[in-house]
Amino acid sequence: MTFAINRGEFEVEFPLGSFVPERDGAKTVAEPARRIPVLTECDVAVFGGGPAGVCAAAAAARDGKRVVLVERYGFLGGMATAANVNLLHSLYGTDGKTKIIGGLPEEIIRRLQRRGAVRNHATDGRTGPWTICSETVKFVFDDLMIGSGVKLLLHTTFVDVLRDGRRIKAAVIEGKSGREAVVADVYIDCTGDADLVRRAGLETQSGSADGRRQPPSLCFRLAGIKPDAAKENAIQDELAKTPMDYNGQRYSNFLWSTAGIWDSGEMMLSGVRVPHINAADTLDLTRAEIEGRYQLRWLMDRIKTMPGWENVHLVDIATQIGVRETHRIIADHQLTREEVLEGVAFEDTIAQGAYPIDIHCPDGLGIRFERLDGGWKRINDDGSVEQGRWDGQPADAPPRDTLCYQVPYRCLIPRDLDNVLVAGRCCGADHESTGAIRVMINCMQLGQAAGTAAAMTARDRNVRRIDSGTLRKNLIAADVPLQPI
Ligand SMILES: Cc1cc2nc3c(=O)[nH]c(=O)nc-3n(C[C@H](O)[C@H](O)[C@H](O)COP(=O)(O)OP(=O)(O)OC[C@H]3O[C@@H](n4cnc5c(N)ncnc54)[C@H](O)[C@@H]3O)c2cc1C
Repeated sequence: MTFAINRGEFEVEFPLGSFVPERDGAKTVAEPARRIPVLTECDVAVFGGGPAGVCAAAAAARDGKRVVLVERYGFLGGMATAANVNLLHSLYGTDGKTKIIGGLPEEIIRRLQRRGAVRNHATDGRTGPWTICSETVKFVFDDLMIGSGVKLLLHTTFVDVLRDGRRIKAAVIEGKSGREAVVADVYIDCTGDADLVRRAGLETQSGSADGRRQPPSLCFRLAGIKPDAAKENAIQDELAKTPMDYNGQRYSNFLWSTAGIWDSGEMMLSGVRVPHINAADTLDLTRAEIEGRYQLRWLMDRIKTMPGWENVHLVDIATQIGVRETHRIIADHQLTREEVLEGVAFEDTIAQGAYPIDIHCPDGLGIRFERLDGGWKRINDDGSVEQGRWDGQPADAPPRDTLCYQVPYRCLIPRDLDNVLVAGRCCGADHESTGAIRVMINCMQLGQAAGTAAAMTARDRNVRRIDSGTLRKNLIAADVPLQPI
């Protein structure tokens, strides 16, 4: 089938033929054993320099540890920079008055503020979510790492571990210098995909109970939008009327955007979702990037027909498709949907959040939110909205007064390993609770807690032996406003 669309802009025929190689699972080759040089030894090695990783590294280094951070790109920031994700959620609880998040996430916001690279959405300029400039985040994270004394290895990919029973002995990395090792007392996995824990041979969870994952989205920036241009909701409704004619698929009816910080005619848009992808699989991830760009071209073509959008042009496409969900570790405690929604308190709470459970339908159509106030809302793929109460109360019942949810330290400890912690979107939580704790302001807190805990871990290299009460005290001393227990 060939679609004659888009005035010949596409120089391929649809549906696309296969553009990834077929995996031949049957054949193997033997990799000979070899000795590899140890690039460095340190107290704490952090893998992945996203929101979780930079906070983990900064916290451990500020507590006097020798810290090495390994990042596969040439810059830090993870989804905040590589995927253009530029909205940090509020530091306040559901009452809009009680500060529940401080510490490094707040310090990062202050550093962005000093560069004019952040805008709060609330009229008080303080309590709402923050649009951030993804490019300035790169500068801020460089300063944060270097100022805290973290040693950096950029353009370096973590590839394997050497494991001895319950301990990791070394992490294997690859960069332009080839294959080398990093030896540390404690290893923190902040790869977002639990790469270190998976290479150690541990089981993980992926997606919902039936194995379906939130779809990835490609983000991009457009400029040249007129001040009175049609709003994104109107565009979304318009796009939803037409099935996406490229590739015979339906448009996923999701157009999320944030207005530019420097230029009011610029906008970051996330309007592309690629369903049925395992972003921790090489072939699927390749498929997602390519298909995401075809969707983006389809979308650009439609957007240019909307009032005020006629002269827009593409500023950039994110370095990588934005990944919401891949693997989560199985931890000493697996945070659940119910614990999040009920705001359950734990003796070893190390992070707090108020952002709702937000799950993009794994089929790529629709999105569902569950809030701490008892409400749920589903935006369907035809743009219609359904809502109700998840707590069984009538629609007009008073909202629940849960201030925030809490994440215990045990969610950062992978079962069966003693000298490893995990922070960020791959920590120990079920599919639904990950829908809430995965946002960047929460991942930063998890990172700060993991780095602080790693620094407290004694020479016996056992992350379970630290006292969670002292961990909480140390976090509170670092301006983390943990609720009393
Ligand atoms: C489209 C989209 C929209 C979103 N919207 C929002 C939003 O509005 N607000 C919000 O707060 N959150 C949002 N999120 C969620 C949020 O961006 C992520 O959940 C969050 O960034 C996760 O942080 P992290 O540090 O755990 O992982 P990541 O941000 O994924 O960072 C992981 C880092 O590890 C590196 N890495 C990975 N593997 C390796 C390896 N093997 N070796 C070396 N380095 C490695 C990566 O390059 C990356 O730098 C969104 C996500 C997506 C995809």
